[in-house]
Amino acid sequence: DKPQIGVVGMAVMGKNLALNIESRGYTVAIYNRTGSKTEKVVSDHPEKHLVPSYTIEDFVNSLEKPRRIMMMVKAGKATDAVIAELLPHLDKGDVLIDGGNTFFEDTMRRNAELDNSGINFIGTGVSGGELGALEGPSMMPGGQKEAYDLVAPIFEKMAAKAEDGTPCVTYIGPNGAGHYVKMIHNGIEYGDEELIDESYNLLRNMVGLSVDEIADIFADWNKGELDSYLIDITADILTRKDDLGSDKPIVDLIMDKGGNKGTGKWSSQNALALGVPQSLITESVYARYISVLKDERVAASKVLPKPEGKIEFDKDAVIEKIRQALYFSKIMSYAQGFEQMKVASKHYDWNLQFGEIAKIWRAGCIIRAQFLQNITDAFDKKPDLDNLLLDDYFKDIAKKYQESIRDIVGLGVKAGVPMPGFTSAISYYDSYRSAVLPANLLQAQRDYFGAHTYERVDREGTFHYSWYKEQ
Ligand code: NDP
Repeated sequence: DKPQIGVVGMAVMGKNLALNIESRGYTVAIYNRTGSKTEKVVSDHPEKHLVPSYTIEDFVNSLEKPRRIMMMVKAGKATDAVIAELLPHLDKGDVLIDGGNTFFEDTMRRNAELDNSGINFIGTGVSGGELGALEGPSMMPGGQKEAYDLVAPIFEKMAAKAEDGTPCVTYIGPNGAGHYVKMIHNGIEYGDEELIDESYNLLRNMVGLSVDEIADIFADWNKGELDSYLIDITADILTRKDDLGSDKPIVDLIMDKGGNKGTGKWSSQNALALGVPQSLITESVYARYISVLKDERVAASKVLPKPEGKIEFDKDAVIEKIRQALYFSKIMSYAQGFEQMKVASKHYDWNLQFGEIAKIWRAGCIIRAQFLQNITDAFDKKPDLDNLLLDDYFKDIAKKYQESIRDIVGLGVKAGVPMPGFTSAISYYDSYRSAVLPANLLQAQRDYFGAHTYERVDREGTFHYSWYKEQ
């Protein structure tokens, strides 16, 4: 049998995806720029139906037509380089798939360029890391619909399955839509992580609990409405001790400098470009940036005073309030993320299906969580829902938990624990539910110094006030 699909790039992700596809009953052609990696994959898995090639030409020629080729290489220049090498050997109607963490505007450009040569181009988000790639990732493919139909049977088999058995993959939309949705997924992931980390910090440094106690709390939270992969791994992480010999929790020995590969930043930049309030993801990006200033923070900790005085609270009640504040904030973050996708869908003409997007995040990916079902339900009820907060389920949570987050933010500020995620969540909520914001004063200021004009609440038209005329 000729291989039904080929994978270019035999680093962690490509190798595991190839093995995943093979395990679903396909023969998979594999290729890597550095041939020794291809050789190793084959020698490590002699029993698998893998067909190795050591030149691009042999690789392309080995495939069944129309060819399906999935690239899993470093995002950016490497992707362009691989496309340039493949292109002369491809035929019209072949489907090229980029599964890297590519910036969606690059995917839009490549899709348009390749479309001119008659080559279909799918940019697909792949989430779930190394294990997800092997066992079943959540996949977010965008590109020509007819090209997606050619790969859909394979994608549906290789993707993660939600509890109800549905594959965590669906056609997202034209050109860059898939990579866009993956970018928002990653931004939301930054937000989820930040909110969990703030909860941990409050439990540790405000409530004064030990790492072991906090591990138990997260394990307990994972049994309820916060049930999710990230809460689950956090509980596990907090039980782990030093692997180099001491009996300290490993978390206490890990340097507090947050890394990033840029996808959260892209989400924030795009939100700013589209004019969407996306404060929570953006604060999460900033939280990583300020964490990196370790030396400055250590120096500042010696000269800048912390709050004085003791705060009083009931321990058990405050732990429950932190849980509620976390869930409340998570909802604000998703409300913002889906708002951003709504604006993007119109702006780029993608016709995104929000309920379907929440559905394919239920398994396989890093943000998988029980509560995504509630998002799907909300959009099933009302596909043109303006904001998640207006859905009954989410409105009800906001009603039940808003006092808790106010209490926690108040206590946390008094205790001097930084909470950029929690504070931006409650600020977003209060801004969104305010019929009147002080932007009236802002408009007056803009008109005063720059004659920028303003609208009035009591009549139609554009107005300018004579600020410099004596009254
Ligand atoms: P890397 O991002 O580390 O990329 C290494 C691969 O890219 C190797 O196969 C390498 O070939 C190839 N490559 C680099 N430059 C070139 C070039 N100029 N020409 C041809 N090939 C080149 O690998 P990962 O497996 O970690 O990730 C693959 C893609 O998947 C990336 O886009 C990544 O962002 C994305 N991704 C990664 C996840 C993860 O958890 N790691 C999760 C989801 C997506 P060679 O061996 O010859 O150097």
